[in-house]
Amino acid sequence: MKTCFTNFTLIDGTGAPPKTGLYMEVENKVITYLGNRHPVERDASVVEVDLGGRTVIPGLMDCHMHLAMGLKRDENTSIAALQSGNEIDFAANVLINLNLLLKEGVTYVRDAGTIADLMPEMTLRKYVEEGWFLGSHMCLSGRIITMTGGHGGATGKLTADGVEECTKAARQMLAAGVDCLKTIGTGGVGTEGTEVDSYQYEEEELAAIAREAHKVGKKVMAHCHGARGIKNALRAGIDSIEHCTLVDDEGIELLVKTGAYIVPTFCIQEWIMEKPVGIPDSMVRKELIIHDKHIENFKKCYEAGVKIACGTDGSPTFMPHGTAKEVAYMVQNSGMSNMEGILCATRNAADLIGVLDKYGTLEIGKVADFVVLGEDPLADITALQRPQQVYLGGKLVHDAAKA
Ligand SMILES: [Zn+2]
Repeated sequence: MKTCFTNFTLIDGTGAPPKTGLYMEVENKVITYLGNRHPVERDASVVEVDLGGRTVIPGLMDCHMHLAMGLKRDENTSIAALQSGNEIDFAANVLINLNLLLKEGVTYVRDAGTIADLMPEMTLRKYVEEGWFLGSHMCLSGRIITMTGGHGGATGKLTADGVEECTKAARQMLAAGVDCLKTIGTGGVGTEGTEVDSYQYEEEELAAIAREAHKVGKKVMAHCHGARGIKNALRAGIDSIEHCTLVDDEGIELLVKTGAYIVPTFCIQEWIMEKPVGIPDSMVRKELIIHDKHIENFKKCYEAGVKIACGTDGSPTFMPHGTAKEVAYMVQNSGMSNMEGILCATRNAADLIGVLDKYGTLEIGKVADFVVLGEDPLADITALQRPQQVYLGGKLVHDAAKA
């Protein structure tokens, strides 16, 4: 069956100005026609869908989520509650988060580390692909590879020390079928006993992990706050620096030179600053060290031309509309245009995930994952937080008017 969408303003995710008067035809999930000839002139069997003059953007993509993390529904918002539970709770969180993500217009998500040893994301993705559940597309990193005593959450991490063990841990995750790897360059806000400005893995250990991933055409993200850890990671060939809060000028130069992405994750920083019930004082103390510097350094990175992709470091159970809010934070904190903000969560995210050939923009040959907005996001970026309809492969999967 062919569907033809009519009467909409298109922001296609390439950075081109919005277009009107187009017809977008979808067959077998893929955009087969995008142009100004009416479908009836071409093929009378096409089903027409009038989008009522609203704005269409590519489905949002989030490069840093933790799908297994979520509230235990009977507790408050403490950080412990977000990560507590057994393997079945974690699996349930993945399903709940996938369901919420579609309603928020997030059609592709990169998971930045499970908290469950059994990696339920990997199994549940299979069920989503088989059509048992509706869910966003997933790029999964599996268990976080970290050093003894390193940052990486209370559960689910894979501890490895030295080049040999790091090589083995990377191979283990790749053998389990992950799409990318996640490792750790510095201490973290959420891990007691680690400091944000102290570096963790040595450059050789990070290089061993990066080498294993690159051998099979996959990418590696590294959690990094402090300047030394960021530079270690970049020299080791890491593909994206997550958070990147305390980067120095040399680090920014390296980011530009290597073409690595940064994923700033303002959402989690702001969430900690709001100090929900149960946030330990140590987290607030560390957040205060990085908060203002992060904004200042992000602006410097943007101005230097560093590649930027959107990621929240949360999940929608405790961070509703995080991906859309993250875009607003990036715009606000750097002075980038609303269009550039949208690109961070569409084209750039697809490029970082490595799926730009099929996702991230709305063009002929791409998968028809898109969001229908009732307002113009170029005039008000918060419009992304109010999606009216969400389409996955040209099929309506969420309609706010009917929800
Ligand atoms: Zn994270």
